[in-house]
Amino acid sequence: MKDKFLFQSTRSSEIVASAPEAILSGIAPDGGLFVPVELPRADVRRILSLDPLPMAAAILHIMLPSFSEEQLLPLVTNGYTGKFDTPAVTPLCAVDDMNILELFHGPTCAFKDVALCLLPHLMKASAESLSDRNEILILTATSGDTGKAALEGFRDVEGTSILVFYPRDGVSAVQKAQMVSQQGSNTHVCSVEGNFDDAQTGVKTAFQALQKEFLSQGVRLSSANSINIGRLAPQVFYYFSAYRDLMDAGKIAYGDLVDYSVPTGNFGDILAGYYAKLLGLPIGRLICASNANNVLTDFLKDGTYDRCRPFYTTYSPSMDILVSSNLERLLYLLSNDTALVSSLMKDLSEKGRYTVPASLLKQLQQVFWPDCCDDEQTLETIHHVWKDCGYLLDPHTAVAWRAAEHYRDQFGTARETVVLSTASPFKFPEAVLSALGIPHAENGFIAMHELSKAVSMPIPAPLQGLEDKPVLHRDTIAPKDLTEYVRKKAVEYR
Ligand SMILES: *Cc1c(COP(=O)(O)O)cnc(C)c1O
Repeated sequence: MKDKFLFQSTRSSEIVASAPEAILSGIAPDGGLFVPVELPRADVRRILSLDPLPMAAAILHIMLPSFSEEQLLPLVTNGYTGKFDTPAVTPLCAVDDMNILELFHGPTCAFKDVALCLLPHLMKASAESLSDRNEILILTATSGDTGKAALEGFRDVEGTSILVFYPRDGVSAVQKAQMVSQQGSNTHVCSVEGNFDDAQTGVKTAFQALQKEFLSQGVRLSSANSINIGRLAPQVFYYFSAYRDLMDAGKIAYGDLVDYSVPTGNFGDILAGYYAKLLGLPIGRLICASNANNVLTDFLKDGTYDRCRPFYTTYSPSMDILVSSNLERLLYLLSNDTALVSSLMKDLSEKGRYTVPASLLKQLQQVFWPDCCDDEQTLETIHHVWKDCGYLLDPHTAVAWRAAEHYRDQFGTARETVVLSTASPFKFPEAVLSALGIPHAENGFIAMHELSKAVSMPIPAPLQGLEDKPVLHRDTIAPKDLTEYVRKKAVEYR
């Protein structure tokens, strides 16, 4: 009999874990990702009737049934209150005949905050429910944005601490300023000589070297990686909240199908939308929007995922990805076939490509519709939406807006469309100013002020005055010294 409290690996139904175990371990021991063994359908009408925080707790309970709604509500409340600048958490904004779901009201002005403000609380509750008294120490290598969002999420959460490593030569001045000014008694930031790969390799090595040793001393090493089920589950919420807001605005009645357009990189955000659909939310199409790194567009068109292709650095850097890890969960959900998923993932790592069976492709295409655009088209979209609608899009959101427009042009749908907005335009002032045809400074801090003046909008509070904030973290190390560094720092935390 299936156990609704259990999770299993996408690559083997023999490898199972409870929600707390899955959250604490992140990836499954066979390299697969944890998925619920059985997903109950939700009481969608009841969920839609709830206020934002209880709604988030109710959905999390369905995704992570070992935790009760009563247990989750205080975690959600602690995670979001005071960190998001609006009680709605993720407000919906009508722009022309589109609806923008603003996911950037958190402490770093980007959508990863929604999950990363909750993950530390879920980890703590997981450890408690397993009577695991270890301190949790998060080790993360970052190419910029995720590190800052993780630092903000874990900041001052009791029983946890976080060490973030960034490549000295690989983050922007603004990203660096955000990290080195990080406050919190349990946060630490250090730069690594070299690029992102050097930092990531260093962190992986430290993990392997220290995991057992630390556990014997009462410290559990963990990561805030985007494949953790504890990061995916919190993202299902805003698909429901947007639907509810459309009902409240009188634009839809309960049961009407709504399309969602999602700027996609690692496939986590859009997969949460698929979970929302599985739970029973009336979702029509999920529009999978990519930039010039359009590996997903090709895959959803012809069924072959091929990572052997040029890599482009674009104006929407958080979508510059050639391997979308969370896609593995979708392949499992659609096929229910761990042997198939294992063999596809083996093909991906050995040959750099795989092809799904025709029947699976057909299933994919019934729900997902792919589209992509290049940098020039991204800027054009920012320009025209600002000129025609007076709404300022960030480059990631612009990619999704354009895909939504294409979908409508092609299918002439009368359904409401929700465009997920994953970042504040002030995080990417240079690109946005270029889109508006305004010359800008090379310096990101100055460009932020120039953008603020040009559009008569204030810089969001978390990004304000960054250049003047005191530097609290100055350490720089060579990659080979990373393990020793973690060992030394871990002592300071205890
Ligand atoms: C991470 C990120 C994305 C992509 O989300 P995935 O879940 O990786 O698909 C899109 N936009 C922004 C601004 C992001 O930070």
